[in-house]
This record gives sequence, C-alpha cells and structure tokens, in this order.
Amino acid sequence: MSSIVLFGPPGAGKGTQAERITQQTGLPQISTGDMLRAAVKAGTETGILAKTYMDAGQLVPDEVIIDLIKERITHPDAKNGVMFDGFPRTIPQAEALADITAVTHVIAIEVPDERIVERICGRYSCAGCGNVFHDIFNPLGPDGCGCDRFVEKRRADDNEDTVLSRLGAYHDQTSPLADWYESAGIFHRINGDRAIDDITADILSALQ
Ligand code: ADP
Ligand code: ADP
Repeated sequence: MSSIVLFGPPGAGKGTQAERITQQTGLPQISTGDMLRAAVKAGTETGILAKTYMDAGQLVPDEVIIDLIKERITHPDAKNGVMFDGFPRTIPQAEALADITAVTHVIAIEVPDERIVERICGRYSCAGCGNVFHDIFNPLGPDGCGCDRFVEKRRADDNEDTVLSRLGAYHDQTSPLADWYESAGIFHRINGDRAIDDITADILSALQ
C-alpha cells in the first residue's frame, strides 16, 4: 500500500482538490478533520476531547490522531492506497505514518497567509453531500451541489479569531514537515492561489 498526502495551511483548498483527485485516481480521501467532526457530532470520548482543541484552533494531540488513522487504514477501501487530507500535521504524526504506509507524493498547496482568512470566512458546504463552496470564489451554481437538496452548513471554527490560531499552529507545528518531505524527494509545491481547475491539472501531472 502506498499513499499520497495533501499538505497546506487551513483553507488552502485541500478538501476541494481531494474530491477531484479521488474521482480521477480512485484513492479514498482520509480527512482527519472530517473524522474528528464526526466524532464530535457522535459525542464519543475522542470527540469530547478533540472539541476543546478544535474550538481553540489548536492541534488535537498526536496520540488521538494516530489512533484514528491506524484504525481507518484497516478498512477494505484503503488496501490499494489512500489520499490523506490534513494529516500528518506534526513530525510525530509523520513518523507514525512512515511506519504505516509508504508515502509516494506530498502535494503542498501553497496559498499566502493574507488570502487564508477570506477563504475560511466565506466557506460553506452542503450538509447532505459535503461538497464545499465559497461565498465569492466558488458559489453554489445553478447545477446545485451533488445531492437532491442543498442544506447550508458552516463550521464553528471558521471564524477570524480561530483561523489566526490555526494559521499559527500551521506555521509552528506543520510547516517544518516540508523540509522532512523535501529531503525525501517527494515534495511537490503547487501554487494554490489560482483557479481551482488549474490547480487540479497541476496536481494530476505531479502524480503521474
Ligand atoms: P482546506 O480543506 O485546505 O481547508 P477547502 O478546500 O475547504 O480548504 O477550501 C477553503 C475555501 O476556499 C472553500 O470555501 C473553497 O470553496 C475555497 N477555495 C478552494 N480552492 C480555491 C481556489 N483555488 N480559489 C479560491 N477559493 C478556493
Ligand atoms: P482546515 O484544513 O480547514 O484547518 P481540518 O478540517 O483539516 O481544517 O481541521 C480542523 C481542526 O481539526 C484543526 O484545527 C485541528 O484542531 C483538528 N485536526 C485535524 N487534523 C488534525 C491533525 N492531523 N492533527 C491535529 N489536529 C488535527
């Protein structure tokens, strides 16, 4: 089993691109953020613990994340490889991942900090199908969302204060991973401050 990592700050477009890359490659998307939000909604012990960190814009402890991933990759759909979205986010997570699966490509979607707040504060999704939109940059079009009935959902942590904390956590704890993966020769930088389709095309060519 070998895998791909989508890497980048909050709001870089990881989820938006993951959905498209999944369609092209057939690799399932594993988003630790989505898994944590599901745990919060279900009121599990993990969810209750994670919520405090998520609301504050801080990273959830590594042990919690690594346990979630170890369980998730035992599912049958992961046997031919997966695409991680938002994982790993720390050096210990990357070390744990190296013991679990060979990473062949790390796709870094680069977006300047000054763009991040506007991206995050305009984000919404459909509660039914999960497709992600933006008030200005990527609004729900006349074709709808991907399911029968669009129901707008906004994340509690998508506000200006929390975004600044999340961005701080990204620079302090996550961005050092770039050197780690760059020295392994598997790090691909993609300019994420462009049209969504152009970014998808560049990611697909990096994966070839
Ligand atoms: P991430 O998963 O990295 O947090 P998302 O894919 O959820 O990021 O994107 C964050 C917000 O920015 C969403 O509202 C999305 O519609 C929008 N977005 C994604 N890609 C682009 C882009 N290339 N240009 C402008 N807005 C974008
Ligand atoms: P975004 O990319 O928009 O920041 P995510 O959905 O990936 O959002 O993550 C939301 C929150 O979930 C993060 O702010 C953090 O609290 C937690 N989280 C998600 N993935 C991880 C991870 N790999 N390690 C630690 N915390 C995580």
